[in-house]
Amino acid sequence: MDRANIVIIGGGVVGCAVARAVSQQWSDVFLVEQMPKFGMGASTRNSGVIHSGIYYPPGSLKAQLCVAGNRMLHEFCAEHNVPHRNCGKLVVAHGAQQEAALEHLADNGRANGVEGLRLIDRATIHKKEPHIEATAALEVPSTGIISAEDLVKTLARIATDQGASLLPRARVARLDPRADSIAVTIAEGDSNDPSHATRETVEETIEARCVINCAGLYADEIAAMLGNRTYRVYPVRGEYCELVRAKSYLVNNLVYPLPHTDGLSLGVHLTRTLWGTVLVGPTADYISEKNDYERNRLPVEEFVRRARPMLPEIDAADLQLAYSGIRAKLAPPGHAGFTDFVITRDAAAPRAIHLIGIESPGLTSCLAIAERVVSLAAEILEG
Ligand SMILES: Cc1cc2nc3c(=O)[nH]c(=O)nc-3n(C[C@H](O)[C@H](O)[C@H](O)COP(=O)(O)OP(=O)(O)OC[C@H]3O[C@@H](n4cnc5c(N)ncnc54)[C@H](O)[C@@H]3O)c2cc1C
Repeated sequence: MDRANIVIIGGGVVGCAVARAVSQQWSDVFLVEQMPKFGMGASTRNSGVIHSGIYYPPGSLKAQLCVAGNRMLHEFCAEHNVPHRNCGKLVVAHGAQQEAALEHLADNGRANGVEGLRLIDRATIHKKEPHIEATAALEVPSTGIISAEDLVKTLARIATDQGASLLPRARVARLDPRADSIAVTIAEGDSNDPSHATRETVEETIEARCVINCAGLYADEIAAMLGNRTYRVYPVRGEYCELVRAKSYLVNNLVYPLPHTDGLSLGVHLTRTLWGTVLVGPTADYISEKNDYERNRLPVEEFVRRARPMLPEIDAADLQLAYSGIRAKLAPPGHAGFTDFVITRDAAAPRAIHLIGIESPGLTSCLAIAERVVSLAAEILEG
């Protein structure tokens, strides 16, 4: 049986950021990912936005880790040549009531430490985004855009260079707490990958002094393997459309409506990607299966309906369906509202650290989340 200081479960952006951070400090670090490549879950099925931190209640983990993560990510991208753009964004309002809501949003952002926020009028909006309709907007200069795929690859490469063992096609099947370790049983070979469908699955066990649960949508099921049934992750699908190439000139940067008041999402927004395409989305709908990316996709007309208040010139012929991603929500259907990231040691199995409900702004926050996990791991390994 292999022995490890740390086993990280899940090779999304959070697991890879954690692997990089802990392998700076400890040897014998393993990361296990069930899919054939790292970052195939939510980590590369998102808007790729480096959020500023304006939305979340002051003092919450989301507020703290997003604001810190934004700065850390901009520095990291510059240092490691991860493609990104510091483009800023506009949150737009239509009419007096929404303009008052923009002021509240600006106050909330300032309370969280977001710098450079300012309200701009129609004429200034028009100079920046000539095709956008709005009576006022909040300009958020610290928002950016990143290639999430390159970020995941870079984090994984650094962790590997620092001596961590990152294992794709390895699914955690069981966790058994022992006196001073947790036995992690891994099924190797990948049932999700057709090229490996016929390959026999081999089981292997690693005895870990610390286990870090970064399993995204499945983090509740990993906690349940330790007998912890406190958490339930509800999958909420976000679908995207894309403007056809000939219409991508309609949007220069990032344009958002005010967020949904129910806290479910930031609303269908317009995102000019690093590749010059323009995404319209994501939507937000609870679904029953955690891997259902495609069934009953919304028609393009629905995206037109939601985006038209901001972008009156578009119609259905200007849009084509694009990918979708699935959020790991802690709020059950019908009870939407703010829920925070959960980053905590397991009460009954204290050698385990759970990261649960790491929905947006998880991509932005990944480096700050990893820093927090390092201090919990130090309590376990050096306490
Ligand atoms: C539609 C959408 C838009 C978003 N937009 C943004 C945005 O613009 N900016 C932002 O900051 N955030 C955004 N987010 C949030 C962000 O994408 C997530 O917070 C982040 O990707 C979470 O990363 P993760 O590593 O926790 O999860 P994941 O990427 O889902 O990784 C978890 C991994 O665990 C693996 N795993 C699960 N179970 C097991 C097991 N038993 N054994 C081994 N491996 C296992 C999975 O295969 C998966 O690869 C968005 C999310 C969605 C869905």
